[in-house]
Amino acid sequence: MEAESSSEKVIRRLYEITNSYDLGFETQIKQLLQMGLERFNLDIGIISKIDKSQYIVKHCVVPEDVDLASGVEFDFDITYCHITCNANGPTAIEHVGKNDLYASHPAYDSFGLESYIGMPIKLNGKLYGTLNFSSPTPYKRKFKAVDIDALQLMTSWVEVELIRRQQEKRLTELNLALERKAYEDSLTLIPNRRAAFKHINADLNRVTRENSIAALAVIDIDFFKEINDTYGHNVGDEILVEIAKSLNTNKRDYDFLARFGGEEFLLWLPNTEVSEAATVCERMRAQIEQLTLSEKPITISIGLTCYSSEVNHEEKPKSRPHEKVDELINQADKALYKAKDSGRNCIKQYK
Ligand code: GH3
Ligand code: MG
Ligand code: MG
Repeated sequence: MEAESSSEKVIRRLYEITNSYDLGFETQIKQLLQMGLERFNLDIGIISKIDKSQYIVKHCVVPEDVDLASGVEFDFDITYCHITCNANGPTAIEHVGKNDLYASHPAYDSFGLESYIGMPIKLNGKLYGTLNFSSPTPYKRKFKAVDIDALQLMTSWVEVELIRRQQEKRLTELNLALERKAYEDSLTLIPNRRAAFKHINADLNRVTRENSIAALAVIDIDFFKEINDTYGHNVGDEILVEIAKSLNTNKRDYDFLARFGGEEFLLWLPNTEVSEAATVCERMRAQIEQLTLSEKPITISIGLTCYSSEVNHEEKPKSRPHEKVDELINQADKALYKAKDSGRNCIKQYK
């Protein structure tokens, strides 16, 4: 009866711990080890990771006078867990010094631990490490089947939780990669149209809050259709990539460049006077003209507009998201038409 009630206690306590996600994994693990120590009446509780020939302490609960912490490593083959992993199942030894098999084990020499109960932790069938409890003093009774059951229950939870955390980590990484892709232009690898709206809208709000200024440029490649017609779409793509690279190198670190679509780019220049913005654009224009991407030099036309929170802050709040960004793009587009009308390969400002 006593054994039954103690395993019931383990189940109840394990249930409490495993459901307390708000405690955080580290605390849950500490509480699990603490529970094991109380359950087995032992002193040292460890979750280890086994990496080839190394035994790494991942989590541990130890008495104050034992110098052991997570991150400490040992040679795997001088640990009792080596025996456990070779046995591929739970291992319990009550008095190592009196055990015919293990009294001469190097782990006994190294750590002098008399009692030990441990179990391999397996993730998707592969050995991860061990859950083990030990003490420098011999065990006063025999380890029983209910002890092994309790250890198995604890190990199962650790296994499930470690797998869940691995999957969660992979999912987070995958989501991050997907998010990155969703905001990246797949051809030029610079931010795409969606990223442009997101970034400029957010930064425009900051500029307004800080009573600052900014400039926005729409950059369009001149006669790009001709390039496609002459060299084919694939070469056209390669040229687009080179132009994006050149624009990206010639912008300032804090400017934001995106491919707005087709052969058009958006350049956002925060906290920038229009004259300064014109200088940056002129540098970009001149650099593109210098590239030798086709027989004739390729040129770009740029439409530029500026934003000042002083002029705009009295306006009523915009009802549509990005409405202010749309308006700025429209202004820059009008200036771009002027640049095209003026013979291309030049910069015009919206007035
Ligand atoms: P303009 O000087 O007036 O801008 O002349 P343009 O020929 O550049 O202008 P238009 O808008 O008539 O043509 C743009 C061309 O850009 C047409 C389209 O085939 C090409 N284009 C758009 N996106 C891509 C792309 O991803 N790859 C390639 N190779 N070409 C593209
Ligand atoms: Mg165009
Ligand atoms: Mg064009």
